[in-house]
Amino acid sequence: LQPVTELSERRERLLPILRELRVPAFLVSAPANVRYLSGFTGSNGSLILTADAAVLFTDPRYQTQAPLESDCAVKIAKRPMTAEFATWLNRRRIASLAFEENRIAFELYQKLKTALPKVRLKPAAAAVDKLRMVKSPSEIATIRASVELNSLALDHALKAFAPAMTEIDLAAEIEYRMRRLGADGVAFETIVASGDRSALPHARPTDHPIKTDELLLIDMGASVAGYASDMTRTYAVGKVDSKARRMYRAVLESQLAAIAAVRPGVTCGAVDRAARGVLRTHGFDKLFIHSTGHGLGLEIHEPPRLGKKEKVKLEPGMAITIEPGVYVEGLGGIRIEDTVVVTAQGCEVLTPTRKELVVL
Ligand code: ZN
Ligand code: ZN
Repeated sequence: LQPVTELSERRERLLPILRELRVPAFLVSAPANVRYLSGFTGSNGSLILTADAAVLFTDPRYQTQAPLESDCAVKIAKRPMTAEFATWLNRRRIASLAFEENRIAFELYQKLKTALPKVRLKPAAAAVDKLRMVKSPSEIATIRASVELNSLALDHALKAFAPAMTEIDLAAEIEYRMRRLGADGVAFETIVASGDRSALPHARPTDHPIKTDELLLIDMGASVAGYASDMTRTYAVGKVDSKARRMYRAVLESQLAAIAAVRPGVTCGAVDRAARGVLRTHGFDKLFIHSTGHGLGLEIHEPPRLGKKEKVKLEPGMAITIEPGVYVEGLGGIRIEDTVVVTAQGCEVLTPTRKELVVL
């Protein structure tokens, strides 16, 4: 549970945005944003915020849970949610309402328009998502706990590893270990990809046995008290050839260079270029086909994105991943990923798992 004062502070920080948008009320509908601002973790909740009210709308399934989790006024909807919004807004003569244009479904937008014919709907792009980029000390402590649990789960799972185990079995072992260590679930579907399948950056585990003398890529993240961790390690199962070893050294050097570039005031693009620049000196930059990293928190992918042209500047308290990789079809892929937090001077790497090439 989030401390209640922290929840109300977060809502306070949204008020200047309402003033800027010249709207008296904001409808928050993305589940992670509702959780961030209200503490409510249920699957169906919407929040209406004004300068002096915070109302959480949910359905009867959550009538006990919602007041326990949230310090907001709770409204249990007995009719369609949009009808409840309309009654609440009309009673207060609210004539315009900001909504999360990047988060709501077209269907909900149409229903809002029908239910609120006299209310002007104003798109507010990613306002809450932007607030969420900089984490509070309690959020960083939770992300740290998530990262440490994730690394411990990998250590435990690898003890159970033996060649010929299938990718699915190893992924299941990893997820079981996370749960046993206290995770509330996975932050995303665990990736276990061996041999040439490691060249697929988002491979799904299959029933292929993991063979010796091949690469093994594991990308995993736990969810702890709602907060994600994210780590990738690539292993050699038995012997791998010199090209794979060269690729590994280049990716590690690239990852360390990107981490060294992380500090307040630096653009996300500059961190991405630091990673790419090292791979270029090794002739591997064309094989690096995704961005260098992403923010994480209540969701596994959050702003900022660490892509080539991203102008967002890093600030202390941002939690991001650094994850360069190179992928060769038919041979395999190598990615090394840590979760790091931007500090006043630079950054702190939260992930404790070693990064030198380990032979399993
Ligand atoms: Zn990952
Ligand atoms: Zn990631």
